[in-house]
Amino acid sequence: MALALTGIFTFLFTACGIKDSEEKNSIKIAYLPITHSLAVLEEAEELEKNSDGAKVELVKYGSWPELLDALNSGKVDGASVLIELAMKSKQEGAGIKAVALGHKDGNVIVVSNEIEKIEDLKGKTFAIPHRQSSHNILLNDALANGGLTIEDIKITELAPTEMPSALASGQIDGYCVAEPFGAMGVSLKAGKVLYSSEELWEDSLCCGLVLTDKFINNKPQDAKDFVDNYKKAGANLDKEKAKKIAKKYLKQKDDVLDISLQWISYDDLNITKETYDTLVKKVKDYKLSDNPPSYEDFVKNDL
Ligand code: ZN
Repeated sequence: MALALTGIFTFLFTACGIKDSEEKNSIKIAYLPITHSLAVLEEAEELEKNSDGAKVELVKYGSWPELLDALNSGKVDGASVLIELAMKSKQEGAGIKAVALGHKDGNVIVVSNEIEKIEDLKGKTFAIPHRQSSHNILLNDALANGGLTIEDIKITELAPTEMPSALASGQIDGYCVAEPFGAMGVSLKAGKVLYSSEELWEDSLCCGLVLTDKFINNKPQDAKDFVDNYKKAGANLDKEKAKKIAKKYLKQKDDVLDISLQWISYDDLNITKETYDTLVKKVKDYKLSDNPPSYEDFVKNDL
């Protein structure tokens, strides 16, 4: 019996060994099916066409908390994630670095058809996906335009997929969230765009591409190649390519994607110190965090 068991264990170890060597150039990246993660999806598709060299193993999650658990516990090598959530993880001790932006612009404030101006939101209910998000920051920016603060409205955290129907049913009066869920509300005629992100915050940051320190330190060349290929994929992602990749991974209707993809771009995905410092100031001013990580500690542009 003992001998038989030894045999089984030997077999299992051997099987694992083969698997590891086969996958040694595979980089595990966590993502949510949103337009904000299209650059890494496009990179994975491009690398899949090459017979040799590194591959991206995409790992899909259904919510930010689940994705963060995977990132923080080292189940994945990196993720396309809301940068404020990654900053919070870093602040709490996670060994991660932001190596590029997820996208540029690409967010909107959607409100019900009765709301004509931001002041009309006073006393109303507004949904964001998470307190640690650029959607929260954009809401604060929009309210400031009308001399209001978040104290003047009711904030609720909802899952992105629930927001368009919540607006349609009157449960909420507006929302701001990763795309294409803003476009979905517009497509359903449940509401309209009151502001696009660039009207509120020029060069806004939203999602970041994040890698674990473990991966960067153990495989520096792979990390560099991965980020170089990522930025190339982003630069090549025109509206047509973006729609093709979104149709494959997001499974959304054409008109929703056509509306949503007008608002976003993926070229030049470097995180500059200037734009990051603006984000840090907003994170502190709007009380998302007292002590966000510095550019030097968190952003890695020199892989
Ligand atoms: Zn984003």
